[in-house]
Amino acid sequence: MALLELKDVGKIYVSEGNVAVGIRGVNLAFNKGEFVAVTGKSGSGKSTILNVISGMDSYEEGEMLIEGQPTSHYLQPEWEQYRQKYISFIFQDYNIIESFTVLQNVELALLHIEDKKERRRRALELINRVGLGDRIKQKGSRLSGGQKQRTVIARALAKDSPVILADEPTGNLDSKTSEEIIELLREVSKDKLLIVVTHNFEQVEHVATRHIRVYDGAVESDHVISKAESAQPESEELENVESKPISERAKKRKERWATFKKGFSLGGTLLAAKPKLSVFICILLIIGTVAIFAVTSICGEGMNLFEKNYMFSHIEGRVVLANNSGKIFSEDEVKKISEDYGADSFLMYDILLDSGLSNFIYIPEAEDGLSFSFTYGEDFGKNIVGRYPEAENEVLLYLPISWQPYFGKNKLKITSVKLQNITLSVCGVKYFYDNTLDAKMLFTKDGFRTVTCLYYLAARLNTSVWAGVYFSGGNQFQTSIGTIVPSFDMENGKIYIKDEIFESFVKTNGGTQDGEAFDAEAELKTYYKNYDSSQEGEKIYSKSFEKDDFVFDSPPDAKDAFGSAAVMSVATMRDIAEEILSESYRQVSLFFSSDKKAHSAANKLQDAGYIAVPSDTTYEPDAYGKILATVMNIVMLIIWFIAILFLALVINLCTSRSMAAFKGDMAIMRSMGIPVRVVRIGIYARMLLSLLPAYAFLLAAALAIFLTPLLNGFFMFLHAWQYALIVAGMLLLTLRVTHKQIGKLFRESVKKSLKGGSAE
Ligand code: ADP
Ligand code: MG
Repeated sequence: MALLELKDVGKIYVSEGNVAVGIRGVNLAFNKGEFVAVTGKSGSGKSTILNVISGMDSYEEGEMLIEGQPTSHYLQPEWEQYRQKYISFIFQDYNIIESFTVLQNVELALLHIEDKKERRRRALELINRVGLGDRIKQKGSRLSGGQKQRTVIARALAKDSPVILADEPTGNLDSKTSEEIIELLREVSKDKLLIVVTHNFEQVEHVATRHIRVYDGAVESDHVISKAESAQPESEELENVESKPISERAKKRKERWATFKKGFSLGGTLLAAKPKLSVFICILLIIGTVAIFAVTSICGEGMNLFEKNYMFSHIEGRVVLANNSGKIFSEDEVKKISEDYGADSFLMYDILLDSGLSNFIYIPEAEDGLSFSFTYGEDFGKNIVGRYPEAENEVLLYLPISWQPYFGKNKLKITSVKLQNITLSVCGVKYFYDNTLDAKMLFTKDGFRTVTCLYYLAARLNTSVWAGVYFSGGNQFQTSIGTIVPSFDMENGKIYIKDEIFESFVKTNGGTQDGEAFDAEAELKTYYKNYDSSQEGEKIYSKSFEKDDFVFDSPPDAKDAFGSAAVMSVATMRDIAEEILSESYRQVSLFFSSDKKAHSAANKLQDAGYIAVPSDTTYEPDAYGKILATVMNIVMLIIWFIAILFLALVINLCTSRSMAAFKGDMAIMRSMGIPVRVVRIGIYARMLLSLLPAYAFLLAAALAIFLTPLLNGFFMFLHAWQYALIVAGMLLLTLRVTHKQIGKLFRESVKKSLKGGSAE
């Protein structure tokens, strides 16, 4: 059985309506060990014969047999396998991948060897064999014609295919180099079938074993020159490739995995082959990632579709409680309810939790400040710098991590803050990373009550400020303590109340006439002693003060601004405030250890006739706001998506020219019989590998923001899922760009691509 047999093979070219005969009625049989020289005039069909044999051109007539197997029914994948198994092709114009080194070019043909070290070893061996041992790392583009052809021969050897086809391999070489190449070909193809098309028969005459003349698409003559040296029946390795136990799934999976690995290996080579281009693409992708990062940051807040506005601040385990009748609770009542229903604690004056009031605190060390909301009964877990508050004047601050440099990492650096005019002692700090959240100030129960009372008193004493407390909705509580209290020394229990406040307050109540000298101390005492509810103004306190209840003094830290002020004790202030509150205050809070417990307690309380609301269920059904938020979210997502598409466009534009340059290389690979799938995976792998630096950059940026507290203040906090979105977005973008370009790469046939896409 002949290795290769053509029976009446004919090939017709149809282009632009013209029919040209490539070859017709070709009958040839070839065996291993033959060195066949094919000659004939230009256009006689020599190349066509080689192309048909190589499987790069189809044939319409006759049958070609390989090891006795017919091939006329082959489709693309079978031809690929065929090329991979049997054929090495050497062209006149070398067809090496110019951007690859000699070593890479040869290793490409050795992809079937899975062990990388073994692959390298074989490649070096072959390169040495073709005499290019000193050019291993040289790029294809910098080799001479002869060296290129040697590389191609090494590559052909690497495949170890039984058939080597050479179409005018020396056509572009000088005579001396041509001789060397022919000699090399003879040397390396001793046990193979070598078919060489040549113009110059003399060149091969001394080595050829057979001479075929072609004329006008047909075989004119076929002479055996000397007996083929060896025509051994072929080795078992070929049969190995032939017999494919498709039954086993595992084997298929293994094959797929091997294809994958080959593809990735190829991708790595492609990446390394054009370092400038690769760096360019990497930079492009990094810029893209940064852009998506920026867009996500900007959209980030809008993208939070799950955010709800609660009527009551949600604190884990909190239940807001009120009497159905509107009756105000006494402290004893609340205490009893708290015990009966198993609450861990309760808070009588809890309005600051829900007031939406946030207080600005200036931190001189940072020349900046931040807003807090007040809280009580919240557990911030571990990792607290310092400790939880214990005294009335102590607070724990729950702060964005960007404040860590000022407040200290392991030890508190700032130990007191001023809340308007209230001096508070900072006993602990807890940092958090999500800078879209609010800072909080955690008090003890007494501290929380004192501040509530103080705010309340301020609101009531200052007629320009209105304070109202309602149980449902519209909690309003706006005041500035600073307008009435120049200084409040919580630790020492002293409140300094501004003279003017009392002055105007007393005046409106008819105590003093305009223009009269104002004796604050006397007026105040008179006012409180003689308060008469029938007069204009409001009764704010029912008791009469004793002589010593008020002292007049200068606020120690605001002497210049305020002169003297009334001083009262915290106890007095609280007493006054609580009396005011007792007339209008309806809501209290119970605290349980979890929302779950809060829910079950709330149910029981409702059954018992109370109004009881778990704080996590009180989001406001603000339809307009929800619609607006949803629309905004959709717009943001569209912007995000457009940004991705725009980036894809830019990256596509920037890389498409480089991909065009790839086209020839891909065709060479395919002509070598590397499966399209491997080439495809290779191209994808190349792009995905290019994406790695961008991911590394993203990771580094995320870590830098995470680890450098100050940076956390500059960038909007992104959650893990948002990072995942960026990663996925970039992945999709890269895959899409690559997919588009691959489509262009493989649209044309191997042969056409090899000839630079020109129509023949
Ligand atoms: P050779 O290699 O001997 O110079 P070819 O095998 O290239 O000859 O060409 C044989 C014949 O087939 C010529 O007449 C040529 O014009 C024609 N031919 C080759 N390739 C094509 C093609 N792609 N389209 C149309 N005609 C072709
Ligand atoms: Mg030709």
